[in-house]
Amino acid sequence: MSANIIKYRKAFDTSQTLLDITGTDEFPLDFDVLFSKKKGAQILVSSLKDYNTWISSKNLQKWVPLFIADAKCFYYSDRDTYMIIYNECRPEARIRFSLAHELGHIVLEHLNDERTELSRGGVDDPTYYAMEGAASTFAGNLLAPPILIDDFLSGSKFDVEHISTRFNISPSATKAYRAEDYKYWKSLTPSKHEKAILKRCHSALHKHICIDCGATFEIEGSLFCPICGASSSSLYYRGKDSVDVIYPGVELNKSGQAKQCVQCKNEEHLEKSTYCMICGKTIVNQCTYAIANNVPCEYNPCSHDEPLPGNARFCPYCGSETTFLKDGVLRPWDAPQKPRLFAALDSEEDDSPLPF
Ligand SMILES: [Zn+2]
Ligand SMILES: [Zn+2]
Ligand SMILES: [Zn+2]
Ligand SMILES: [Zn+2]
Repeated sequence: MSANIIKYRKAFDTSQTLLDITGTDEFPLDFDVLFSKKKGAQILVSSLKDYNTWISSKNLQKWVPLFIADAKCFYYSDRDTYMIIYNECRPEARIRFSLAHELGHIVLEHLNDERTELSRGGVDDPTYYAMEGAASTFAGNLLAPPILIDDFLSGSKFDVEHISTRFNISPSATKAYRAEDYKYWKSLTPSKHEKAILKRCHSALHKHICIDCGATFEIEGSLFCPICGASSSSLYYRGKDSVDVIYPGVELNKSGQAKQCVQCKNEEHLEKSTYCMICGKTIVNQCTYAIANNVPCEYNPCSHDEPLPGNARFCPYCGSETTFLKDGVLRPWDAPQKPRLFAALDSEEDDSPLPF
């Protein structure tokens, strides 16, 4: 089934308006928060298992358990309430897409007093497919608004795995419902609602935690962990309340040079110099791939030759070693040493006055 902004522009606009007027400020989208902020008719959400247990407890005669492949929405016009029932046996990312899809049917007003549920037999085929396409367009754009994908990528290319992890959508839905839309969206001018979403979400969008080494970092467009070099599938979004775990590194000056040479402690560096003029040690942390001039073009060399953070062992854009790691300015992340968080806690203990 085709679903995209070109065909279902209203569904796209509605998804962005809803995100804005509900004040959504965090992704992956939290449905509990969204549903609680949505004005108008109440939306109840139940797993298929809970729904069937509830129905069977009513001792209705001739009761057959309901089966739903993914999710379905019912409208109870007498109570002006919607009920979304989802199949809890599906993977989480797929359930999230189904919830967003059903929410699409609700806000796009596909259900009403006459049509309290959507099924293929209920309406003619073209109408049914149009409603399905609109609901899926709404869902994809609600879960991962193109303006946030664009900001998140910060110029790097569309990476299905990275986007799928960041917004908690399945890789197949990311391919089917995000890639084409994003490409087309690039030719549009963002609406005021989209701009407001970006403003609210921008800073949190780039906060990462790496599940392989535990490091937290905030680098726009990063595809690799700068500490252990893990790829995007290990990088998760760092929630508002999580604790920072910063690996130790070299303190840099404004030009991105080591404040103090790690080898000879020299602090005097010439402008734009990348080596210590006293002992010859590396003083700027760069991607070794980006500055290598013997790499053939067809290997698409990394273009990020700017100074990297003082604790980066790997280039966050291409995953290559940094000059600090290669030249022994930094030790490998898993060499025996403590992240600053714990080191700080330890040193606090050490410094505490003796009790006598
Ligand atoms: Zn549907
Ligand atoms: Zn890592
Ligand atoms: Zn030196
Ligand atoms: Zn690089």
